[in-house]
Amino acid sequence: MAESAAQIESSRSPLEFRDRTRGQALLDAIARWTDDRIDNPVAIMHVCGSHEQAIAKFGLRSVLPPGLRVITGPGCPVCVTDAPEIDEAVAIAESGVEVMTYGDMLRVPGSGESLDDARARAGHVQVVYSVAEAVGRAAASPNEQFVFFATGFETTAVATAAMLLHEPPANFSVLSAHKYIPPIMEIVAEMPETRVEGFLAAGHAASITGSAVFEPFVARHGLPVTIGGFEPLDILAGFAKLVERIRRHEPRVDNCFPRMVTREGNRRAQVQLWSVFEPSGGVWRGIARVPNGNLRLRDRFAAWDARRRFRDVIASAACGVAATGADQCRCGDIMAGIAEPRDCRLYGAPCTQSTPVGACMVSSEGTCRIALEYGGHPVLEMTP
Ligand code: SF4
Repeated sequence: MAESAAQIESSRSPLEFRDRTRGQALLDAIARWTDDRIDNPVAIMHVCGSHEQAIAKFGLRSVLPPGLRVITGPGCPVCVTDAPEIDEAVAIAESGVEVMTYGDMLRVPGSGESLDDARARAGHVQVVYSVAEAVGRAAASPNEQFVFFATGFETTAVATAAMLLHEPPANFSVLSAHKYIPPIMEIVAEMPETRVEGFLAAGHAASITGSAVFEPFVARHGLPVTIGGFEPLDILAGFAKLVERIRRHEPRVDNCFPRMVTREGNRRAQVQLWSVFEPSGGVWRGIARVPNGNLRLRDRFAAWDARRRFRDVIASAACGVAATGADQCRCGDIMAGIAEPRDCRLYGAPCTQSTPVGACMVSSEGTCRIALEYGGHPVLEMTP
């Protein structure tokens, strides 16, 4: 009896996407498209912390042909959360209201303090793993106020939206620092220093938005965009398609993650996202003010908007003194693809995972932290 597509899919080994032979074939294809660019490598940018994690974890940079340069873009949600947004959360926590957020956010410095500092000074800060958990905590203590400090891109914003559509308790509210990826690509593409020739877009975000969301960008800038997954072959296939498009001068949107992403995306999730949030201009930490780069709650959800509920507390928030060395932090340049972690004089000392100076060293998706943990871009000496 013939196997169904579902049976075949479920019998696939996850290691199928780590196959060495197919990986080498993709590397050979990349080399063929780039071997005349060794002195001036083809520059592509990914905009996803999970991509950088996978690239570093699987050591992909050490095997890439020398004619390809992969630049890390503004894909770490923790890193792009602006200091004044953290100041708002700190002020609310120090007023006695419970602030709940994802663990990576705690040590990111605001203008002065981090949420961790606030907690040490008797501020009310809790780590949660999901917005659903945050709502559950609020429901369990109806006489206290709970604020969810909501960070992340489309993927986490959809979860926040879905929760608000289910009318959470009245003592729950959202401090939105959610950001939307497509507008920052416009900014980076227009930066003269970056010289990016194509973008690898994140497969999980595109599973919501659909690949079509990048079509206007491609038409405007003449730069190809490829959607990529997170296994080694997914990423190499994305690189191979991008360099092919770049060298053929064919700016297109290509979907190299078809097992998760469609052109239309998840329509139901899109409806939820845009019925709760609207785009607004906002600063991406260290990079730029990005038109339509932030997601704020629509008026219809004002009852759960922490910025409105705690307006007076936020307005009275004092900006603290920035951490020593913060003015030398180059996170913004790194996320814009203008610099690499080793270009920062604080990298490795005094800025480390345990003593972070900038946001890029705090998050597990931060470029500086990944570079420090995985050794950056190693030069391998091959011995016979
Ligand atoms: Fe900022 Fe530290 Fe990275 Fe330097 S090494 S750019 S101080 S996070």
